[in-house]
Amino acid sequence: MTVPTAARTVPVEPVAPAEPADQAVPGTPAAPARRPGADLDETIRRDPGAHRVLTGDRPTGPLHLGHYFGTLQNRVRLQRLGVEMFVVVADYQVITDRDIADRLAEHSENLVLDYLAAGLDPDRATIFAHSAVPALNQLLLPFLSLVSVAELGRNPTVKDEIAHSSQSAVNGLMFTYPVHQAADILFCKANVVPVGQDQLPHLEVARTVARRFNERYPHPDGTGVFPRPEALLSAAPLLLGTDGGKMSKSRGNAVRLSADADTTARLIRGAKTDPDRRITYDPAARPEVSSLVLLAALCQDRAPELVADEIGDGGAAVLKRTVTEAVNEHFGPMRARRAELAADRGYIRQVLREGAERANVVAEATLAEVRAVMGSV
Ligand code: ATP
Ligand code: MG
Repeated sequence: MTVPTAARTVPVEPVAPAEPADQAVPGTPAAPARRPGADLDETIRRDPGAHRVLTGDRPTGPLHLGHYFGTLQNRVRLQRLGVEMFVVVADYQVITDRDIADRLAEHSENLVLDYLAAGLDPDRATIFAHSAVPALNQLLLPFLSLVSVAELGRNPTVKDEIAHSSQSAVNGLMFTYPVHQAADILFCKANVVPVGQDQLPHLEVARTVARRFNERYPHPDGTGVFPRPEALLSAAPLLLGTDGGKMSKSRGNAVRLSADADTTARLIRGAKTDPDRRITYDPAARPEVSSLVLLAALCQDRAPELVADEIGDGGAAVLKRTVTEAVNEHFGPMRARRAELAADRGYIRQVLREGAERANVVAEATLAEVRAVMGSV
């Protein structure tokens, strides 16, 4: 087997038969399976101009290896194919699981630095903070009317985020987070969303909101206002952190993209493994070891089985040394680029300002369409 370079496409809704409208938001994560007969990645390659991407991240801290291999690498690849790209710095969503958005401006600028260092080009990608785009947020109101409270309560990602939240009570924004994300995706009529696995249930909500809106408020010409966005998963849709859980900015288990070589080595040395000396690639039975093997394989663009075979009986120490060397080599140039960009914060703020200007034009046009089909003046 070779390392899959193409992303996996994931249908987040059954292809047929269509579900009744009141059952369409699932209570369980969508199964990451291929949709029969449709390969989104292939479709994008054939006609990049027919696709529009929306992705984003919460400005809760610097991006980590999970972001890069889960979605950022895919974004850069799609941008190079010529796909139009919107990237949201999801600042309002920071306060879904904490009382105060700590160092918001700094974290937002750092996100942009990570994007640019990884290869996103602000001339081709619209990078903006959603608090700077009022019309986007206004879509939340009609969208909220399209989902039931019970459906929101069943969302597994919301449940997981509540479990890891630092708040004693669940706030309303956390509960409605997936609907806000539907506004993020649909304001620019994105039809492709490169995400990690944790986002699949949210994306299913966006698809449901689009479908129900189109059914409830049909366009006079018979078409729907919104497309049905599809998830695009990478070869590493769920990279594990040093504690064996999902690598997350807010969970103290992440290796930052911008970490220096020594910090990276120290963090990887502390990563959880298992007592079996023989290194194998078996994600189901040995998730922690396999996630490390996959990380080295992705950095070296090799098959994970090959990486595991080479280490053989070398045990966790050799595995961690291999991973550390692979990560440091792969991310060295990106770290250097980031350090150069970091010297000009004014430019980073300008990227956000110009991105917001472009996003506002798009959001206002969509909101006008929404108002028109709803019969508002
Ligand atoms: P936080 O702890 O603040 O929620 P996070 O690390 O989960 O941060 P997000 O901003 O919530 O990061 O996620 C941004 C994007 O990165 C999403 O598409 C998400 O699916 C993807 N992503 C996050 N963590 C991983 C991971 N460990 N593996 C693969 N993809 C990931
Ligand atoms: Mg998250």
